[in-house]
Amino acid sequence: MKRRAAALLLSCILLGGFADAGGPLRVTGATATNPGQPFVWDMSKPIRYTVDGGPLSVSPGGQVVVTNSQGVSRVQNLFQNWQSVSTTSITYSYAGQISGVGIPSNGDVKTIQDFNAVQGLCNSGTQNPVIFDADGSLLRALGLSPLVIGFSGTCKLDPLAGHIVSALVFLNGEFQDGVNDPNSSNYELTADQFDEAITHEMGHFSGLGHSQINLDLFQSGFLGNCPVDELAGLPLMFPVEFCQSRKSAGLPILAPDDVAWISKLYPNATYSSNFGTISGFVFFSDGITHVQGLNVIARRVDDPSTTQDESKRIAVSVVSGFEFTGNPGQSITGTNTGGSSLGSRDPALIGYYEIPVPPGTYTVQTENLDASFVGGSSVGPLDPPATTYGAYEYWHQFESDFDNTTQKDPPTVQAGQKLSNINFILNQTPPRFDQFEDGKVLLIIPQAPFVFRTSREPWLVRLS
Ligand SMILES: [Zn+2]
Repeated sequence: MKRRAAALLLSCILLGGFADAGGPLRVTGATATNPGQPFVWDMSKPIRYTVDGGPLSVSPGGQVVVTNSQGVSRVQNLFQNWQSVSTTSITYSYAGQISGVGIPSNGDVKTIQDFNAVQGLCNSGTQNPVIFDADGSLLRALGLSPLVIGFSGTCKLDPLAGHIVSALVFLNGEFQDGVNDPNSSNYELTADQFDEAITHEMGHFSGLGHSQINLDLFQSGFLGNCPVDELAGLPLMFPVEFCQSRKSAGLPILAPDDVAWISKLYPNATYSSNFGTISGFVFFSDGITHVQGLNVIARRVDDPSTTQDESKRIAVSVVSGFEFTGNPGQSITGTNTGGSSLGSRDPALIGYYEIPVPPGTYTVQTENLDASFVGGSSVGPLDPPATTYGAYEYWHQFESDFDNTTQKDPPTVQAGQKLSNINFILNQTPPRFDQFEDGKVLLIIPQAPFVFRTSREPWLVRLS
């Protein structure tokens, strides 16, 4: 029974793991009415979610630490973080306790059987449940790491219309159980950090993928003491939680990247007067062949009249080829046997990127994705991420395959304006050859180990 439930759950996570993130979590496939579009909820009505009837967190001794009503109001408030973004139309609505066939009458989802019943309701498209795993025991029973704070899964998609039909959020209350034991997996997060993790999962629930910005914070091992300018620009949708809470640093819970992408996916009438677009292509050194899977970041040029560093604070990213399929078996560079049907098959989109930004002047740069961001932590359409030669480069006017990669020509974008052809030509990549010869020579699959930094420090806890 346990085994079966775990398999069901993983299939749900794997559906999310079909990638297409760094912006939208998933993109419509070739059979859709509009291929290559982010999957979004139908916004003709609010997204109705139901919530677990049990406590959000209990101590190892069984004492309730966060009650059900506290948990429910926390969930309601945290959905509001996304809904209250001034340029988005997304709305959510609390539809009461989880209920239905096979669910305990008090709505408390505790066992594998309960979970299967809840997932059944979600898979049938009838309920969008928020599950409280008060002591982490359900997570363990499902065979998942106790270091997972929470996860989100899309249960049902409408692949033709490009709509998310139903989804769920799962929260591990063990991180709020009042016990912090660095010698075991039972770490404690502050309430603000836990709220951020919940809000992160709600971002996935809404259709957002992971984003990578200010990666150096993560790579240089800042744990719980991140510099504020960089923390300000670190997306809430970054795959791993490792800094102090944004709130404790006096920052809003959402970073500019989060605000830009929820607005891009669900724009309201004010979107076009508050955002412009920077777009283009990433090419190999031949200037012709597209590169999929590189992170592209637009950073606001620092305003020297302020003490803050806007280049670290105001940044929005996407992964090149985010609208193209991440399926290695697709017919463009592969043999199209099996695998994900999601993502466009239009070869003109393989290296295309598009970044929504508040009006202003921005440097634009490419970089590799962190090699440890795989599976449930992946960013962008490729999992594992590809690394290529010469990926670290700023855009300037006269891009070539032998230019100075640090030279910058920051374009200025107005509200409602779309800048096109901010194109990168990477330096010193292998010369072009027939694309059907052997794609693996161009895309070097990283040999880096699958790094679970989670066990190193209590601050560093993996999100999914
Ligand atoms: Zn995540």
